[in-house]
Amino acid sequence: MSKSLIAVVEDERDIQDVIAYNLRREGYEVVTAERGDEGLALVQAKRPDLIILDLMLPGLDGLSICQSIRSDTATQEIPIIVLSAKSEEADVVIGLGLGADDYMPKPFSPRELLARVKAVLRRGSSNSKGAEEMLVHQNLRIDVLRHQVFLKDTELRLTATEFRLLSALIEQPGRVFSREQLINRVLGESVVVIDRNIDVHIRSVRKKLGVDAGLIETVRGVGYRIVSNI
Ligand code: CA
Repeated sequence: MSKSLIAVVEDERDIQDVIAYNLRREGYEVVTAERGDEGLALVQAKRPDLIILDLMLPGLDGLSICQSIRSDTATQEIPIIVLSAKSEEADVVIGLGLGADDYMPKPFSPRELLARVKAVLRRGSSNSKGAEEMLVHQNLRIDVLRHQVFLKDTELRLTATEFRLLSALIEQPGRVFSREQLINRVLGESVVVIDRNIDVHIRSVRKKLGVDAGLIETVRGVGYRIVSNI
């Protein structure tokens, strides 16, 4: 099995160095870019297994890169982890909407990032193992095998993380899941928990559900569950 190739697009040299150093130490191959336009070209040329993408970049910003990667059939399946400063949470939500799989708020520990990287790569490789299931809840239909979600007859475009989140909730309608349980289901148990992270993904799923956003109910102080529209 060949080593996974990870592209790191980050203009802050110190951060880029720390990320690259830690990834290489774990045995990953790493390619880097400091400018956004160079980063996109790098991704198109190398087709890495994963992209770690800063949002604020010279040349071309992270959101535009995300959009380009997702709209190109050659690169659209490559998972993306977005890095963001605290002040950029609105951009993170947009990024997840554009198809980023996860995000890391700065500052983060290398250990935390490595856990995310492993979880995202593992998710990608386990997609093909395939259950035969079709999950149905009211107007929502999840084709587990094909990784498709339909609301009535419209297909929703969910990220891999959003897909797992919604599947976990719908598997057990009415059950309340804590944020921690959802993170374990969605990202794997090794991930250091940042509660707000799940909230951002939930917000994004709700947005995509549109008028049916109320299907995901917030249980105050506990977490989330799928309910039935009356
Ligand atoms: Ca930056």
